[in-house]
Amino acid sequence: MAPTSLRSTAFDLELADVELALDAVRRVVGRVDPGRLSGEESLALADRLAEMERVVASGIARLTPRVLQTGSYAKAGHASGPDWLAAVAGSSATVAKGRLAAAERAAGLPELCGALQEGKLSAPQLDLVVRTAGVAPGAVETLLELVAERASHQELCAEATRLRTCARSQETERARRARIHAGRHFRWHQDPDGGVRGEFSCDEVQWARISPTLEAQTKARWKAAGSASGDTYEAHRLDALIDLLCGPPDARKDARPQVLVLIDAEALRRGTTTTGEVCEIEGIGPIPVEAAVDLLGAGSLKFLVKEGKDIRTVTRSTRDLAQKTAAALLARDRVCVVPGCGKRLGLEGDHCEVDYSDDGPTTLSNLARLCGPHHAMKTYGKWKLTGGPGNWKWITPPKPPSAGAIARARRVATAKADRNRLRRT
Ligand SMILES: [Zn+2]
Repeated sequence: MAPTSLRSTAFDLELADVELALDAVRRVVGRVDPGRLSGEESLALADRLAEMERVVASGIARLTPRVLQTGSYAKAGHASGPDWLAAVAGSSATVAKGRLAAAERAAGLPELCGALQEGKLSAPQLDLVVRTAGVAPGAVETLLELVAERASHQELCAEATRLRTCARSQETERARRARIHAGRHFRWHQDPDGGVRGEFSCDEVQWARISPTLEAQTKARWKAAGSASGDTYEAHRLDALIDLLCGPPDARKDARPQVLVLIDAEALRRGTTTTGEVCEIEGIGPIPVEAAVDLLGAGSLKFLVKEGKDIRTVTRSTRDLAQKTAAALLARDRVCVVPGCGKRLGLEGDHCEVDYSDDGPTTLSNLARLCGPHHAMKTYGKWKLTGGPGNWKWITPPKPPSAGAIARARRVATAKADRNRLRRT
């Protein structure tokens, strides 16, 4: 064992390094005048600071198990580990407690220790990987690969959900659904800042009973209002919900619910999913096969059964070529195809190689699914999508416009389309 004086010297050097880095960052943060920076410069600086935040979070996760183990927080006057971390990190004790638990569990997983040593994981990422690893021990590698590829948090969550769903045995799934069902709730309270806030939890099968109608109504309202209304998609969803609960019966008529369950034929035969297989409700997320089987009886559902890469069965007739293409597209592009996006709700089909206005064919190879914001960037901001399925590349134009310019171009195009429609009627 090294003599105390030597160990102290090593520690003093580490501490001096951290103090230096801290001083440098503090100086930059204090000195910088955002008003004098261009948007690109602000973004570049914020990018580096965000990277630093990730490195710092990894460092904290490496050290905290030792703090807990030695109880050194008490010497600093704190009643518990979470109290100490909450005080120094400026978070709630609940958040600090979760962070400490994740760090302790990570210390027992060699692959995670390596990623932390390289400063790769933010606190929410570590929490997600650790929680998933608790259910699916093989998940760490897959999730770390996604982190290395700079996947969005949404993509990471979706993959974690899928891995967890895969890893559970049917029996455990039944137990999980029973637990979620037993804990179902809808709470609301008056917000101290005004208005009413709510929160609910239910299982995916229950949600699939309301979600298609709700989303169809939301989309209809959103489209009818146009971009000039300024209301968010979420605002329209609330209005749609209120209409569905207490609006006139007409309000429900034009909603055409389209719940789609996409499942691998092999998973359906086996009763569970394995890695790489899919069993999910479009726009909601992965569900256990058992839950999908429960949904089979519901009339308003459409099942897309994947046999390898082909869509073999669709429970409603799809002789129509456009419908077949739409189904295959939906099966292929489960999330927005822009690398790093991962959004799965409200996706729009887009002509990727040859634009619709240039007589681009509506064939699978010329189509891709994009989220609303990425669709707008491509249509009104000159971003390009190349590469094809499995190899999509998102090409930034030489002079990328700002988000404001894209929104303006979209407003102009929408207004023009509205005028043309009026002229025709
Ligand atoms: Zn997207």
